[in-house]
Amino acid sequence: MARTRKRFIAGAECPACGAADTLQLTISTDPEGNVREEQVQCVACQHTFKDKEEPKQQATNNDDTLIGLFKPE
Ligand SMILES: [Zn+2]
Repeated sequence: MARTRKRFIAGAECPACGAADTLQLTISTDPEGNVREEQVQCVACQHTFKDKEEPKQQATNNDDTLIGLFKPE
């Protein structure tokens, strides 16, 4: 049974419409909990894109890595 988790990416800006705090990260996992797909959707303009293409800069591979994608200033 596949599971899907969703979370908003705080402080992120939509690359399509420029709205802030509208990006929702959807994480699909398989029954073992492995991430199968990560997709980001803007709830304002419905623009979707894959987050997977971001180059990994840290060796650790856990949920905290996702927080590194946006800049807290
Ligand atoms: Zn947008």
